[in-house]
Amino acid sequence: MMEQDILEVFFSAEDIDARIGELAAQIDKDYEGKELVLIGVLRGSVIFISDLARKIKNKLVLDFLAVSSYGQATTSSGQVRILKDLSEHIEDKHVIIVEDILDTGNTLSYLSDMLTARQPASIKICTLLDKPSRRTADIAADYVGFTVPDAFVVGYGLDYCEYYRNLPYIGILKPEVYSH
Ligand code: IMP
Repeated sequence: MMEQDILEVFFSAEDIDARIGELAAQIDKDYEGKELVLIGVLRGSVIFISDLARKIKNKLVLDFLAVSSYGQATTSSGQVRILKDLSEHIEDKHVIIVEDILDTGNTLSYLSDMLTARQPASIKICTLLDKPSRRTADIAADYVGFTVPDAFVVGYGLDYCEYYRNLPYIGILKPEVYSH
């Protein structure tokens, strides 16, 4: 079972649920009377965006982008490749990019420049997790769920070799899991 591979839980399902409620309330306040486009970055943000969207009371549209991931490695290659672009135009729309984690910042820095060029009315970043200690790109999120230390975390959408995304909480893996 997946749970046997977890060394420590950082954020429980209850912690995550409560924090997302706060983020949604903040977003509702900031975008009162405005229509929103929530853009999920596949695949890591799927669990987060589905819970976040259901807690937002404002009218919104969901759209998705897919980017290349690290593959088998746990560190960023600095390369970002678009595997799937948005389905809708975002010109003159209020856009929030929703990510699972802001690590080096390479992915979001690239995406944010790419989407800004399409001239949305506004563009902000919402990330569930922020790992500021590893940042190399000049980018910050407007909405942050939790700040995490420099450790490789899994669960609630975040994977290791595509596994563990369905864990309802966020934690770290036992060291021996990485050596398999
Ligand atoms: P960045 O481009 O370095 O900011 O990396 C962002 C992406 O790397 C995230 O969307 C995740 O898919 C992945 N990533 C970074 N850190 C972790 C982690 O601790 N666990 C799982 N995935 C991670």
